Amino acid sequence: MRAFRRFTVRPVLPEPLGALAALAGNLRWSWHPPTQDVFSSIDAELWRQVKGDPVRFLGAVGRERLDELVEDGDFRARLSAAHGDLQRYLTEDRWYARKAGDDAPRAIAYFSSEFGITSVLPQYSGGLGILAGDHLKASSDLGIPLVGVGLFYRHGYFKQALDRDGWQQESYPVLDPDELPLTVLREADGSRATVSIALPDGPDLVARILVAHVGRVPLLLLDTDVEENSAHYRDVTDRLYGGNSEHRLRQELLLGVGGVRALRVWSRITGAPAPEVFHANEGHAGFLGIERIRELTVDEAGPHVDFDTALEVTRAGTVFTTHTPVPAGIDRFPRELVSQYFGGNSPTPGVPVDRILALGAEDYDGGEAGVFNMAVMGFRLAQRANGVSELHGHVSRGMFNGLWPAFDEAEVPITSITNGVHGPTWIAREVIELAASRGGDIDGDDTDALWPLVDQISDREIWDLKRTLRTRFVDDARDRMRRSATKRGYAAAETTWIDSALDPDVLTIGFARRVPTYKRLTLMLRDPARLKKLLIDPERPIQLVIAGKAHPADETGKRLIQEMVRFADDPEVRHRIAFLPNYDIAMAQPLYPGCDVWLNNPLRPYEACGTSGMKAALNGGLNLSILDGWWDEWYDGNNGWAIPSADGIEDPDRRDDLEANALYDLLEGEVVPRFYETNDEGVPPRWLEMVRHTLKSLGPKVLATRQVRDYVRELYAPAAHTARTLNSDYVGARTLSGWKHDVRAAWPGVRVEHVDSEGVGDQAVVGATLAVRAWVALGSLSADDVEVQVVHGRIGSDDVLTATSATPMLVGESYDGNRHRFDAAVPLAVSGPFGYTVRVVPRNESLASVAELGLVAEPA
Ligand SMILES: *Cc1c(COP(=O)(O)O)cnc(C)c1O
Repeated sequence: MRAFRRFTVRPVLPEPLGALAALAGNLRWSWHPPTQDVFSSIDAELWRQVKGDPVRFLGAVGRERLDELVEDGDFRARLSAAHGDLQRYLTEDRWYARKAGDDAPRAIAYFSSEFGITSVLPQYSGGLGILAGDHLKASSDLGIPLVGVGLFYRHGYFKQALDRDGWQQESYPVLDPDELPLTVLREADGSRATVSIALPDGPDLVARILVAHVGRVPLLLLDTDVEENSAHYRDVTDRLYGGNSEHRLRQELLLGVGGVRALRVWSRITGAPAPEVFHANEGHAGFLGIERIRELTVDEAGPHVDFDTALEVTRAGTVFTTHTPVPAGIDRFPRELVSQYFGGNSPTPGVPVDRILALGAEDYDGGEAGVFNMAVMGFRLAQRANGVSELHGHVSRGMFNGLWPAFDEAEVPITSITNGVHGPTWIAREVIELAASRGGDIDGDDTDALWPLVDQISDREIWDLKRTLRTRFVDDARDRMRRSATKRGYAAAETTWIDSALDPDVLTIGFARRVPTYKRLTLMLRDPARLKKLLIDPERPIQLVIAGKAHPADETGKRLIQEMVRFADDPEVRHRIAFLPNYDIAMAQPLYPGCDVWLNNPLRPYEACGTSGMKAALNGGLNLSILDGWWDEWYDGNNGWAIPSADGIEDPDRRDDLEANALYDLLEGEVVPRFYETNDEGVPPRWLEMVRHTLKSLGPKVLATRQVRDYVRELYAPAAHTARTLNSDYVGARTLSGWKHDVRAAWPGVRVEHVDSEGVGDQAVVGATLAVRAWVALGSLSADDVEVQVVHGRIGSDDVLTATSATPMLVGESYDGNRHRFDAAVPLAVSGPFGYTVRVVPRNESLASVAELGLVAEPA
């Protein structure tokens, strides 16, 4: 019988146990083992059954047990201590209050299409979401005043299972917000707070606002599954990354436009300060900038400035992070579709559709006329932008150079901040406790102090700890293998081998991630016989654990998974290699610590950063990876292994062969011997040397607290500073937009007429000074509007300058017709081929980069 209606009856806790609801209602429990202990001490078996989900747990604990606890003074003391600790965590001054400085913004809004915080709240598909979750958690730990904005997907992403043939099966269980750690945002009168946006074909789309508390950081999730909406509107937030272009466009309109509106409602109801900085995590939320322009230009309560002024205000306070160097991964819509939405009954009425279309146009060399590109709009609506590792920054500058064609790649205004991972979420409890036993504090301001403690811990202790972690993981993996075998239709009698599958004493290699082609899930199967030999070596075997979801529409990805599963089904190897279905945070948490080696073999340079190897490293795992993303930056020769990449080779098959061979060679020649070379005490000293070095060299770098501090210093604080100067009374913004207009109009009159230099003849030596003079005509601009620079550096045989620096020139003399002589002295600091040129670029305090206007004048 189907239910006519479903709802969830929330438990009523006896008054003395009220604090349990507070602990369950804040997701800090998900990275705070002592809080989890409070729950599990109530009923350990039940806690295990609900998979450590406090909301479900409290719904399932019987009244009798609760009554017992009321009488249990011991328990009440522990509960009260845990509650007190949470209150302190939520209110005390943390890093931001002490160190961030006066320029730091009062509030920052962080928009993302997915958030991976805990498996209990499955609103993520992979790395992008986990990163967003870690960003919120680390911000909370540091007291950064962030508010997250996203969507609530009724079916999340999807659950993965396998059929008998190893083909991926997707299911979409309904998530009931009442059974999740979410509250409905309400107005003072108790009614549900909502936002709405206009759509071209009908009534307004309405969404309610669900709030998750991620430590100190509120996360607002918009949910369209409300009575006000018709059935097909209710489905707008049905799934993450499902549906056609139009469906995704509606989701993104809701996220961007609806998200800004939700923030306004949030501030009105709670009194929270309005965000000064808006951070778009990837292009999906880009429409937030259009809504902010609407607020500034046409909203009744707004200042009614013109579009260009509003654009400057919006840009100043927006940060855009791009996450993919894979062209197919860029979010694009048919231009027609965007035109239909903003040209009709627009979600941002009054904002001219042609201006919106221009923001997403690929109107550069190699661009496509018919598309609207969300990344391109992201760059145009954000004065500050970044990639997520140094290499990815470089690749992104090349990829989007077309937006700033007058500048070399190095000057394209896209910087980089390398991703990090949230320590308390990803470091195994046992590791944290071992550090704490030597005085380490993962919650403290100075996490850098943690890593030298490694030297106080003996080889024996580290080795025993790794075995404990491996054992825990093997137990979890066997459970998963049994459940998967049952789902695939195997009888219990056929699965007894699983009881001894995987071995806590065998070198364990992990490989888990989404399965887009560039990650090359099956590279290790390139030479199946060679892999098999490694797996079943009688003396020194390896074991492999593999996991990952393919996007439901990605048939190629599903075929790769099937190939992997079929290999792992072979009775000869199945005890040493397993594909575990449904990779999620719950699987990941015991997986990383349980691995000795973390394998990553993407096609360079398509891995923007990658974070799973960082999580392994924090638990003493060694990385074995292609030099891509973060590994390209931080591999130092001793903290793991680099698989040589054959990235010059055009033939993809040959490239895979070469890289796979290099991988086998490393495993056979380096990894396996080191792991099994034990001393008299039965520990492998050369292995543990690398483990220690990994922890010490990578520990301080890969934490998300390092990452968010970088965001505050390099992007949020400068953005808030510029935004304040522009929008205090909008005079600054009006002046800036007028100035840009004038500079663009006047630029054809700016010319470098003549350049000469003296100070070095044909005998240039290190230490000499080059005096450069340039005669420049400025047309209708003044000398304050521009910077004249000597750009100098190394020069190649093609006369192209590389590794350049720019030395500003000063006005030496002025002549009729607004012509000036500019002078500079350039010291010659290094030997070798040297070249220079002179250029003029626009100058204004409110610009974040000399390339911002895309204008430059050079000698003819
Ligand atoms: C860390 C993590 C990812 C991302 O891993 P990458 O190395 O960035 O691909 C994906 N899914 C889960 C469950 C994770 O924990």
